[in-house]
Amino acid sequence: DVSDVPAVPEWLPDHLRADGIDSLYPPQAAAVEAGVTEGDSLVASIPTASGKTLIATLAMLAAARNGGKALYIVPLRALASEKKAEFEQFEQYGVSVGVSTGNYDSDGEWLAEKDIVVATSEKVDSLVRNGAPWLDRLDCVVADEVHLVDDPNRGPTLEVTLAKLRSRNPALQVVALSATIGNAGELAEWLDAELVDSSWRPIDLRKGVHYGQALHFDDGTQEELRVQSSEKPTAAIVRDTLRDTTEDGEVVEEGGSALVFVNSRRNAEAAARRLANVTSGELDGDELAALDEIAEEIRGVSDAETSDDLADAVAKGAAFHHAGLAPRHRELVEDAFRDRLVKCVCATPTLAAGVNTPSRRVVVRDWRRYSGDAGGMKPLSVLEVHQMMGRAGRPGMDPYGEAVLLANSHDELDELFERYVWADPEPVRSKLAAEPAMRTHLLATIASGFADSRDSLREFLEGTLYAAQTDEQGRLDRVMDDMLAYLRVNDFIEETDSGRLQATALGHTVSRLYLDPMSAATIIDGLRDADDPSALGLYHLVCRTPDMYQLYLRSGEREEFTMEAYEREGELPGDTPSEFEESRFDDWLSALKTAMLLEDWASETDEDRITDRYGVGPGDIRGKVDTAEWLLGAAESLAGELGLGSAVGVREAKKRVQYGVREELIDLAGVRNVGRKRARRLFEAGVETRSELRNAEKPVVLAALKGRRRTAETVLENAGHRDPDMDGVTPDPDAAPADDE
Ligand code: ADP
Repeated sequence: DVSDVPAVPEWLPDHLRADGIDSLYPPQAAAVEAGVTEGDSLVASIPTASGKTLIATLAMLAAARNGGKALYIVPLRALASEKKAEFEQFEQYGVSVGVSTGNYDSDGEWLAEKDIVVATSEKVDSLVRNGAPWLDRLDCVVADEVHLVDDPNRGPTLEVTLAKLRSRNPALQVVALSATIGNAGELAEWLDAELVDSSWRPIDLRKGVHYGQALHFDDGTQEELRVQSSEKPTAAIVRDTLRDTTEDGEVVEEGGSALVFVNSRRNAEAAARRLANVTSGELDGDELAALDEIAEEIRGVSDAETSDDLADAVAKGAAFHHAGLAPRHRELVEDAFRDRLVKCVCATPTLAAGVNTPSRRVVVRDWRRYSGDAGGMKPLSVLEVHQMMGRAGRPGMDPYGEAVLLANSHDELDELFERYVWADPEPVRSKLAAEPAMRTHLLATIASGFADSRDSLREFLEGTLYAAQTDEQGRLDRVMDDMLAYLRVNDFIEETDSGRLQATALGHTVSRLYLDPMSAATIIDGLRDADDPSALGLYHLVCRTPDMYQLYLRSGEREEFTMEAYEREGELPGDTPSEFEESRFDDWLSALKTAMLLEDWASETDEDRITDRYGVGPGDIRGKVDTAEWLLGAAESLAGELGLGSAVGVREAKKRVQYGVREELIDLAGVRNVGRKRARRLFEAGVETRSELRNAEKPVVLAALKGRRRTAETVLENAGHRDPDMDGVTPDPDAAPADDE
């Protein structure tokens, strides 16, 4: 019973009961038994939706009751505000909550006053780097989704952050929440923590695969779907889920709901649009009215196209859900799904862990996703697929949850059973030994003054999961020494007369910029080599760094890009490697292909043309653009730091990528809500700069924005127009540029 939990605030049991939580789930009870409310560290490895958050909440509230302070580390920015909102329910009892996701270069002093702080691991890492003093006063730190230490990109940051927090404060309580993994015991050992490793779920789960118009489940049963002609499998499954029928085809009242996982934001949006045609047929008048209201609210959240697309889907009972949504959008979608108004949500796997939206059925439509580094499609891990599947089954509403993958052939049916349904999740392995991670974190550790000698570095590394997992003697030393030598050669660290290691001014900048030191070294070399590099040259330069995932060359493209490489050799900083150095030359070409994609984007080429030309998805363009923008920003800082003349050119190249526009539109596209297409249309209508927009004739602007009044008003307002009101304004027909969309 919830009143038997020791050491928590006395208001808590009543609060939980009011929330429908009368007794603890077995893994939660085990966590309390293990001392989680009494300051003991814990690793809880339990299935999705089995109440991990409450375990952390109990620990944090127990700490807060004694005047202590807790830190909750989330893996994604998008989850931070969600968790904060969840913990804010305790503010009525005097527990204060703060969230920190923003700038990487402040010490977040205002957070010192909060009882509970929510932050991403990158943010905590940077707080440590910036020496936030309140971190030493922490009593409890929660690591949500700790199995992500396995992630090659972000895992080492989480791992190192936990190690740093623990080494500053050996009495710190660590509560690590993990999906079910193969080696939870190892994590517990690393963190000197108790272990709760359970497969208990609040509701049964049947896993299976869809093939040939039937669902095949792991208990051996099959369920035929009635399929309408030419209907795709996902649509058929969703239809079947919504309209529960008895043996004789009678429709049963209580319909289910479906969560569909796809591999990109764009696909989530497309799937929602398509599945809305399925859900719309299942709505009654009351539901339609309620959905209309929600759709209106969604439209009001922002003027972005996403708002409209989402609202259109929601009005028909479907929705998409991905990290690109505004927090308010996500909230509205999740609430509407829980209220069973929205019947089907299409989501990206990134958020599988975060979507707190149980559903009758889960469809894992795409079990491969675009992978930055392999250029092609990569299968999801068992862990990820199980996490998605774990969202099936609404406690108290469904007899059990059902989760299926989709197979296209009989062979694939067998393969998917082997690969995912029967398979156990992978063990989690530290990725810290990878050179980029080691370089980055060693520099950060030295720059933040955390360690100032080989010995103290060594001692710190001993506290990482990597050290706990590696059994190869001497390997840690070897990797460390190689990396220290690299940092020294590149002038990022130096040894003082007394033999202490310290970061140089340049090293501090690199660490603050959050760059892989090798990326910084590449960029510095390139900028020193070229006085006035072209945009393509700069794009190529940042595409050569290990912080950019390059596009792969498809067969036949080698010749094409070899020609381009010679044609544009003069623009590329540094020397073209010899064709005989095959792998370096291929890297060079891959970087060129990636750089040309960026150049096309920054020349206002249509997204569709770019996806065709480079054989990529729209999400890839976004990914490259975001990374390039960040790297060019870093290049700008480095050029400034070193007093190189190219800083201005770098800045311009960055703006062009950021907005996806040619030079002449940079100013205009910088106005919020304008964007590349609208900027071009305004430009063609004679409104060429931000200040011209501020003083523009309203009919001209309205015509250029295709008569969309709300958009025109917002844009004018953002430009600082004195009277953006469009009431009664009619578009000027002469000012409307030719339709280009
Ligand atoms: P996880 O973090 O493990 O994925 P959550 O913490 O989101 O799962 O919990 C899933 C749902 O279960 C939440 O809606 C939560 O309110 C509910 N829940 C958690 N613990 C209990 C409990 N002891 N009794 C009833 N419901 C619970």
